[in-house]
Amino acid sequence: MSTAATTAFWHGQAHMPTVKRAERVIVRGEGAFVWDADGNRLFDATASLWYCNIGHGRREIAEAVFEQMTRIEAYATFQQYATPPPLELSERLAAIAPFPSAKVFLTSGGSDAIDVAAKLARRYWNAAGQPEKQTLVTRTRAYHGLHGIGTSITGLDFNREGFGRLVPDTARVPTNDAEALAELFASRADEIAAFICEPVIGTGGVIPPAPGYLDTAIRLCREHDVLFVADEVITGFGRTGRMFASERFGIEPDMLVFAKGVTSGYMPVGGVLVGERIWDPFWADGSDLIFRHGLTYSGHASACAAAIANLDVLERERLVDRVAELEPVLVSELAPLAELPRVAEVRCGVGLLAGVELADAALVPAVLEGCHERGVLTRLLAPSTLQVSPPFVATGDDLATMVSVFGEAIEAA
Ligand code: PLP
Repeated sequence: MSTAATTAFWHGQAHMPTVKRAERVIVRGEGAFVWDADGNRLFDATASLWYCNIGHGRREIAEAVFEQMTRIEAYATFQQYATPPPLELSERLAAIAPFPSAKVFLTSGGSDAIDVAAKLARRYWNAAGQPEKQTLVTRTRAYHGLHGIGTSITGLDFNREGFGRLVPDTARVPTNDAEALAELFASRADEIAAFICEPVIGTGGVIPPAPGYLDTAIRLCREHDVLFVADEVITGFGRTGRMFASERFGIEPDMLVFAKGVTSGYMPVGGVLVGERIWDPFWADGSDLIFRHGLTYSGHASACAAAIANLDVLERERLVDRVAELEPVLVSELAPLAELPRVAEVRCGVGLLAGVELADAALVPAVLEGCHERGVLTRLLAPSTLQVSPPFVATGDDLATMVSVFGEAIEAA
């Protein structure tokens, strides 16, 4: 088997025999568009991996990072140390959190933040004298990143296969099935630490919550003393037309996991907004508890500077309101696609987030290629869904063009 003349870069989630001689290199970005190495201009229908909320190529983010790096690039935040950016960012995030008195644990990304939320949930119950409450409950089709814990709790089974024994004490319930959740809690709540839930499932195919589902889920959590963790790695920072999907759906989670849109991807930052019930035992005067967790880059100064500048852009340009304004435009543009015989379902209506599910998974490669050839970059979500999650600076015309390209590529496939 020859490996000559191929890349040394091992791509994530990739079949390398296919990819190693077929890499597509993106060299530049501006607003809702990127350019590949062959000079093709492409509409970024997915905001890269769901993250580039404010759009590409913003100089002021680069300048904020440059400015911070010239003062101090980063410094440790273990024990009592900090730099100004993580302190400021945490204040900003606590002020916009969808529940009062949040404390903020910062990480380098979403999988890291899932680790934090899961470990903190278990540690909380342990400290509360209920160490048997360890089980982490998630939903079928859920995706919570691919670290050890995220791999163990995902509802996308193909991401769990072949890795041997994973983290024990996990359980899955069918998506949007409140009765199944009620039954599980009724029989085993004394073993359950937390229910971890994407308000809108993303990687599993863009599945909005059934009407009333999240209300019921959070009520069941309260009744059975189970922590509710909202994984807002995709839905946070405006994607649903509100700052957080928790606001949009009127829920107050015990913890909220974020990443991606907090910097719009300009630097790697994630974290967890932690509610008072959870943080208080660790913060109260006289407590001897320590949450034995922390990452070298928790609160990285230059990365946090990018996050602060990103929040400034979101606020100054009222981009979250813009998402709410574009939501009905996206819905009406996508509607005709649902009529195509090769389209099984169009799921949309929650901000700038949609999935176009094809009737036949075999069509997907040709459709993706057809979109690329016609200047639109999208990707496959499980099992045969095209991802729609463009930067918030996309225009109504951009969305119309994207949809007509989808239609042409589907017809031609
Ligand atoms: N949670 C959700 C809902 C995600 O969509 C993702 C990534 O796509 C993650 C967690 C993991 O984030 P990261 O890839 O930054 O580790």
